[in-house]
Parts: sequence; structure tokens; C-alpha cells
Amino acid sequence: KIRVRYAPSPTGHLHIGNARTALFNYLFARHNNGTFVIRIEDTDSKRNIADGEKSQLDNLTWLGMDWDEGPDKPGEYGPYRQSERLSIYKPLIQELLDKNLAYESFMTEEELTKQRDKQKARGEAPRYVYEYEGMTDEEITAKKAECRAAGLEPVVRIRVPQNKVYEFDDVVKGHISFHSNTIGGDFVIQKRDGMPTYNFAVVVDDHLMKITHVLRGDDHIANTPKQLVVYEAFGWEPPVFGHMTLIINTETGKKLSKRDESVLQFIEQYRELGYLPDAMFNFITLLGWSPVGEKEIFNRKELIGMFDPNRLSRSPASFDAKKLEWVNNQYVKNAKEDKIVDASLKQLLKAGRIPADPDSKTIEWARKLVSLFKQQMSFMRQIVELSEIFFEDPPTLNEAAQKELSDESAEIVLKEFAKKVQKLQIFDATEIQNAIYTIQKETSIRGRKLYMPIRIATTRETHGPELAASIELLGREKALKHLQKTLA
Ligand code: GLU
Repeated sequence: KIRVRYAPSPTGHLHIGNARTALFNYLFARHNNGTFVIRIEDTDSKRNIADGEKSQLDNLTWLGMDWDEGPDKPGEYGPYRQSERLSIYKPLIQELLDKNLAYESFMTEEELTKQRDKQKARGEAPRYVYEYEGMTDEEITAKKAECRAAGLEPVVRIRVPQNKVYEFDDVVKGHISFHSNTIGGDFVIQKRDGMPTYNFAVVVDDHLMKITHVLRGDDHIANTPKQLVVYEAFGWEPPVFGHMTLIINTETGKKLSKRDESVLQFIEQYRELGYLPDAMFNFITLLGWSPVGEKEIFNRKELIGMFDPNRLSRSPASFDAKKLEWVNNQYVKNAKEDKIVDASLKQLLKAGRIPADPDSKTIEWARKLVSLFKQQMSFMRQIVELSEIFFEDPPTLNEAAQKELSDESAEIVLKEFAKKVQKLQIFDATEIQNAIYTIQKETSIRGRKLYMPIRIATTRETHGPELAASIELLGREKALKHLQKTLA
């Protein structure tokens, strides 16, 4: 039975790259009726942030993922926070010490830095050089006792076999091999404070939690041979690995990094702006994975049905902000109206445009507003800008718009229209449209010469959604104010 996991360190909010890792594991599990586990890798307490775990889980839930075992869902293989598993790691470290597959190392940070600097100066790759080289067992024991007496705390290092090749078949990258001499020497499995290192804990947990497939970002690929050393030391069977390629920002051509401010990278930020979770789920799935065929819009169920890790791309995934907007727009256009109205109301409220308890008139108004702009929206926050004209004083006209009004027919149209607006019995789109037709009949001004001045005067733009409906939303009072301002 397939068991996969997403193993975040609670050091920050849910990044789009991590969301992708979680999502592919989720899809793989669900496609195969497998189990999806969440494990919190929180042994580096200095880097953990308050609420880091909660934020991760909340945002996964928002995206529409659920899991079968995790810190909030006890299962057979818990606990699911590494900080609560220390009593599991301890005896295993001891086992390796007893078998002499690991040893205590007393070299201080200063000594290690000095060693690395020397190696660098010689043009060599930095590596840990065995500190007890050429010593007899008695000498080693004596040296350790001496260090301990001097108050030094040891780390525990695992012995890395020399001149050995570690290889594995990566689901994404194909066959991969590493020479053990490039690992950098015996590496630390337990830190001075007694905490296991990532490369140790991850192996123990993946093994004890019976993880069958490890799908993760390829920033971890250099860790994999180290992890294979740990598997070997225990005589455990390693899982299948798949390392997903990094994500490139299409705009800059560079690796998506947290410092890149040209694009939003945290799920939270998208959430704030009122992106739809289903659309984000769909978009993220396409980051480095593609279905057969040209179609790209799929709901969650369809994606689960067709997810195949063999279709994970070997070349870098590209994060295309335009595509993000396009995918989201597809979902907004097709979403149930109530959902969009609700979400838009939230954004209008946040922007201080409407009161916290909107009355039925406001809700009705928002419904019309949304149906007017839905076609062009990718996320809900856009409604705030798109509806600016309905709330703010009319902005001054730009040059292009002023030019449109310079024809003398414009004044005729606007004066006529203002009169009719004042007199309309019912101020709705149909009646407004009728008024425009009447002006056409009365003045013989038609087409662009008729519509453009009205559009510019009322909405202050040369382009926009359906005119009569926009004027209805503006309301009689504002429409008149805008017309008068233009005519003045
Ligand atoms: N805690 C690691 C990370 O957040 C997980 C790596 C792994 O999946 O093995 O990068």
C-alpha cells in the first residue's frame, strides 16, 4: 500500500514550492488509494516560528487537501512531530554507537571552520577529516575522556564508507549515482544539544512510518546519498525517491526565490487577495506536471483520477504569472455566482467600501457589480479597483478621453443624456438603454459618437463593461454628478 508524506519545517508560511510538494504527494496518495501523512520536522527550534505549523496546515486545508495521519490526526505511526519523537531517535543513535557505525566527535566549531578554510585555500572541497586518524582504541578513549573533562559536548557522526557508489532510480530524474567520497566525510546525526539532524530523523521517520515514496524538491537531492548511508547502517530498505525540479520565474528566468518580489510566493497572500482555492490547486498542479493532451483546466477529482508521477517534468517548472491569472479567471467566470458575490463583499468590506453588515440592497448591488465584471476578474480583490468609479470622486480625464469629447456632438449627447437621466421613472439598465436609443432617434447621432461620450462622462474610461448596466450601478445621483463635472 502506498504511503507518502509531506514533511514541512514550521519555519515560515506555506510557500508555493512547498504547496506543490504537498499537492503532488496528496494526488499520488489519493490516486492510488494510499495514505497521505503530514509530519512536522521541527527539531531546529531556533528556526521555528510561532504558528508555523498552524499556518502550514490551515493553508493546505484551504487549498483543499486533507490527510490521513498528522499532528492533528493521530495514527498508528505517531507522534507526527519530530520534537515529540526524541525517545525514538535516542536508542537508534545508541545502536549505531554500539555497533561502531557511529562515534562521538569532539571537534569544536572553530576547529571545523579552520579545517574548512584550509581546504578551501588549497582549492579542495570542504570535508570533515576523521579526528582520530591513526590512533589506537586506547588513545581514542583517552582523548574522548580528556575532551569530556574539559567540558566539551560531542556530536555523533555516522561513518561514511569510502570508495563506494550510492545509487537510486529517481522517479523524476532517472538513474542517479553519487560517489561516497563526495559526501564530505562522516556527517553529524546528532547535534551537540542532543537533537537528531534532519538527515538522520528523516530516515528513521520515513522507515518507521512505512513511507513507500518520497516525493520532494530537488534541493534535497544532495541529501539523498547521506540518507542512503543511514538506511544502509540500519539495514533498512530505502523508499522510492522522486525529486521535483525547481521552479523558475518566467518573468526573470531565475529560480523562484523568497527574495523575488515580482511575484507572490506564499499561499496566504493569494488567499488574502481572494484567489479561489480550486483555481490555485489547478494552477499549482501544472507547475512541473502535465496531463496528456492540451486541456489544462481540471477539477480536483479529475486531477486525482489522472495523476501519474511519471509525467513530472524533468526540466524546470515555470511559474508564469500570466498563466496564473488566466487559470484563475477561468474559475471565476465559471464559479457559482453566490460564491463570487460573497467573496467580493468580503473584499469590499476589507477596503472599507461597504459596512460590515450589508443590507439586502447592498448585496443586490454587489451581485450586479460582480456579474458586470466577472468575465475579466482573476481574483476577488480586483473588484475593489474595478469598482472605484462607484465610490470615489470621478478622476480627471486622460488625454485620449478628452480628445474623444472634443467633437461638438459630444456636448449635445451629454446634455440630452443628463436631462433624460434626471427624468427617468425607473433607473435601471433597460430604461437607461432606452434613453440612449431615444437620443439616437432625436439627434441622429449614433455609434461611437453616441456611446463614447456617455461612457467617458459616467465611467471616466474609454473601455469598460456593459454601459447601461454600469450606469445603473453608479446610481442616478452619481451619474448626474459625473455628467455635470464633464459638461462644466
Ligand atoms: N523538512 C524538510 C523540508 O522542509 C523535508 C524534506 C523531505 O521531504 O525529506 O525541506
